[in-house]
Amino acid sequence: MAVKTHIVPSHALRDIVSLLAVVLPGCEAAVYLNEGGNGVLRLSDHTAPDNRFAAAVTWDKLSFNLKGNDKKLPHSLVPSEKDAGHFLTKAALKKGVSLMASPILAGKELHGLLVVAFPSAGASPSPLARREMQVVARIVQLNLAREEKIGSLQTYNDFLSGFMARARRLDITTPQNKILEIIGESARESINFNLLTISMRDPASVKTLNVVWTRGKQGAMKKGSGFVAKGVLHGEVYLQARALSNDNIADGKYSGRFVPGDVEQAKLRSFIGVPVVEAGVARGTIALEGVREGQFSAFDLQLLGDISRIYGTALCWASRYQQIHDRATIDGLTELLNSHSFLQRISEELERDVRYGNEMTMLMLDIDNFKLVNDTHGHPYGDYVIRQTAQLIRHSIRVADVAGRLGGEEFGVVIINSDSSKSRKTAERIRRSIADYNFSNQGIDSRITISIGMSEYPVHGKNVKEIVKRADQAMYVVKNSGGNGVKSFGEIKK
Ligand code: GH3
Ligand code: MG
Ligand code: MG
Repeated sequence: MAVKTHIVPSHALRDIVSLLAVVLPGCEAAVYLNEGGNGVLRLSDHTAPDNRFAAAVTWDKLSFNLKGNDKKLPHSLVPSEKDAGHFLTKAALKKGVSLMASPILAGKELHGLLVVAFPSAGASPSPLARREMQVVARIVQLNLAREEKIGSLQTYNDFLSGFMARARRLDITTPQNKILEIIGESARESINFNLLTISMRDPASVKTLNVVWTRGKQGAMKKGSGFVAKGVLHGEVYLQARALSNDNIADGKYSGRFVPGDVEQAKLRSFIGVPVVEAGVARGTIALEGVREGQFSAFDLQLLGDISRIYGTALCWASRYQQIHDRATIDGLTELLNSHSFLQRISEELERDVRYGNEMTMLMLDIDNFKLVNDTHGHPYGDYVIRQTAQLIRHSIRVADVAGRLGGEEFGVVIINSDSSKSRKTAERIRRSIADYNFSNQGIDSRITISIGMSEYPVHGKNVKEIVKRADQAMYVVKNSGGNGVKSFGEIKK
């Protein structure tokens, strides 16, 4: 095994150690590189807030001798306690840390060691941590190897810097779409493909995947479509929880890409796919397809695997965070915004309107004689009426408008950027769609009506509280005159 002195630019090292900080929170990482032909490893960079890492270590003093072993170099090793004493100060050792090291290689050349200290009081690093560490070490290795081939440090630096810049932007609150976009960018920068598809497990069924992201048009499955995983390429990657590749999909042993028989019409020939895994469980598939046969190399597949390992965890966090977030902001019965988040949204809209001088209309809606529905047909039927009314409201407004459930059978709608005559048409449309609808559930048919009050910003109020109050006043005037109508605060003042 040749030992090589390598000048890796310091910002690239920074990137490596910060990547470790992202994937192994709570750990401190250090990069040691060969100083020259003198057998000394010199500390190049580290993440520790103190001087716990030794400034230099001598290869000969370490119990593992990587230099003599050029066939089977381990991706990671757990140094002995004696080794730990070489890398860490006495104070750090007393606190009880354990170490892990990974060789930094370019091809067969050994440039140094990546060392991670775990704050786990003598315990050895978890299998998960070991794997994450291996992934990072492999990315470093793959890219040093690639750089060697291309003969340019630039490619490696660009890749790593881009990769890191993106990884740093991730945290638990990063929306899923952002992460999907980042995965797309990473893949596009490093692999030549025609179609990228990311599918995640359906929350309600382990056998079904939903397409959550695509990039490229050729043969794309629409975002949001679900498909049964069994027997098709995109599904089997997830079901078998392993990477699959196919140089010619038409000859493959799977009957299709998403559904049996969909290979021919898509004109896609090559496929590589890797599972998205969280805590050892497959949650989805990231797949690339190409129009040429044999378009992807083994290196491409490895790279895609690394991308999935780094971002997959974040992706799974994000979808869970999204669920928790939704539970707190979305009303469970109607799937409209709940009262709190509805009012928050209007404040945001108001701020925007103030800035751009836009108009906005607030509608308050309350089902007429709803108690009677509950009393006559029972509470579950009442729930159905509330749910169906929410649907009818949603279908009567534009996507940009905001609808929320403010209480039992009360709703709010904000019509963005609209003058009073257009808003009135929308309000009328909602009123009519409800009055005309045949509510039918559990074999019971019924008719209901709704009362709608309108107020306008900025004419009828300067803040959320005022315009809500004005719309409410207008709504009560409708109620008192028999319901099933629309009135604006402007009309009732007179
Ligand atoms: P008005 O025409 O004056 O609006 O009369 P109303 O009966 O519709 O008005 P009120 O606001 O007094 O009654 C609302 C009822 O809605 C009272 C409550 O029991 C019922 N309710 C509130 N939340 C729910 C719910 O989630 N499901 C069902 N089924 N009923 C609910
Ligand atoms: Mg009511
Ligand atoms: Mg009410």
